[in-house]
Amino acid sequence: MRYVSTRNGSEAVSASQAIIRGIAPDGGLYVPETIPQIDEAFIRGLCLLNYRGRAVEVLGLYLEEFSGNELAAIADASYGDNFDSEAVAPLHILDGDTAVLELWHGPTSAFKDMALQIMPRLLTASLRKNGETRTASILVATSGDTGKAALEGFKDVPGTKIMVFYPRDGVSQVQKLQMATQEGDNVNVTAVDGNFDDAQTGVKRIFADRDFARVLDERGYFLSSANSINWGRLAPQIVYYFSAYCDWVNAGRIQVGDMVDLCVPTGNFGDILAGWYAKRMGLPVGRLICASNDNNVLTDFIATGVYDKNRPFHLTSSPSMDILVSSNLERLLYCLAGDGEKVDGYMRELSGGGRYAVDEALRRAVQAEFAGGYCTDADCKAEIGRLWREKGYLMDTHTAVASRVLADIREKEGAVRPTVIMSTASPFKFGGAVLEALGAVTSETGPALVEELSAFTGLAAPKPLSGLGGKMVRFTRWVAREDMPAAVSDFLT
Ligand SMILES: *Cc1c(COP(=O)(O)O)cnc(C)c1O
Repeated sequence: MRYVSTRNGSEAVSASQAIIRGIAPDGGLYVPETIPQIDEAFIRGLCLLNYRGRAVEVLGLYLEEFSGNELAAIADASYGDNFDSEAVAPLHILDGDTAVLELWHGPTSAFKDMALQIMPRLLTASLRKNGETRTASILVATSGDTGKAALEGFKDVPGTKIMVFYPRDGVSQVQKLQMATQEGDNVNVTAVDGNFDDAQTGVKRIFADRDFARVLDERGYFLSSANSINWGRLAPQIVYYFSAYCDWVNAGRIQVGDMVDLCVPTGNFGDILAGWYAKRMGLPVGRLICASNDNNVLTDFIATGVYDKNRPFHLTSSPSMDILVSSNLERLLYCLAGDGEKVDGYMRELSGGGRYAVDEALRRAVQAEFAGGYCTDADCKAEIGRLWREKGYLMDTHTAVASRVLADIREKEGAVRPTVIMSTASPFKFGGAVLEALGAVTSETGPALVEELSAFTGLAAPKPLSGLGGKMVRFTRWVAREDMPAAVSDFLT
């Protein structure tokens, strides 16, 4: 299977090449030329397998250059005891019509692990297939969660090194500690004296510097990224939609062939897009509900066909969804319109004036499969409290946004359809906001909130979070913005 760019300006490449490149030379994103089709027998087969087996079957359809044995070895290494649940992504059944897929049982307690535990292995295998012998050096600028998940994913993966820059005063205490205590012989974490944009701009400059690339090449390194737009991160996310469906079948609630809706707390549109791929492959999905917080660009886009990022940016208690440009939407537009020039035009308008309006046909196509909704911070907290009181189930702020949007839609329609909610973070990762939602009064900050939430609810916190206070701090260095290249050069000697 070949992969083509969403902007039509680049040649088609193989899956391994798409994973190595990350982004196409014309600035577009890689998508499979055709979407593989499955039938009910395929789903029945998956229902008999564990998560690793399901991953091999689904990924095999997209990554034809990888043999079954090769994918099995990669899946075993990626989804093993680094997850604290044997199911990897367990389905928690809330009631007869609602199930919550817990995507946060990996090492960093957030759903980014589902992709970042496997993507480094897909990348190194891809490099070997293409004859690359130099060390892949991953550079990441992070506002928090992605950096830690990437560090855990690349930690001690042969043939790679990873360096993460974060804004010195722009991440939470827990996030800073998670990164500063990172283990592994091939990792580095450095703070930047500036905000997230400064860190990101610094990293982009380093990527664009050809002289620097030549120096690194002589030392046996080349720079690479672990961006969420990489196909190697998107493909593994398709797997858990199939897995959720099979687990609900196995629980006896639905039968193979029954339709379910999906409700996804959305930021960069990667998670929900993977659900759309699962639907288009043939998984019986009714519609995809795109849930946003106060940064509701996507809600408006789905309702009107106008994408407009010219609006106030809100800092909310679901920070991983505080996003005004959802990069992966480009893939959906391309797949629905089938016209790279059109997408190229929209993206130019977006980077120019911050706004584009899709044509009538495309708007209808989006609306045929997607519903949108958003939820304020106050409603999100009320939802956390409601579910804890009514069902004894504790959810984090991102998941609560989705749960509330679903509840609103059900009330408006006066009907209830079986729906899987994607749960994207452990509630212990956002202990302060969750405690507040439960009505607890606390003066604690940082890692102490993890213990406090545990004491208040009687629930055990994930080990990597509860053990954080006792871990050795390895990385304390910070640099000025202009010294970022020197820091990279020091690391890649
Ligand atoms: C990244 C993230 C999201 C948003 O996922 P996208 O794929 O960017 O839409 C939602 N919740 C949490 C906790 C996240 O880390």
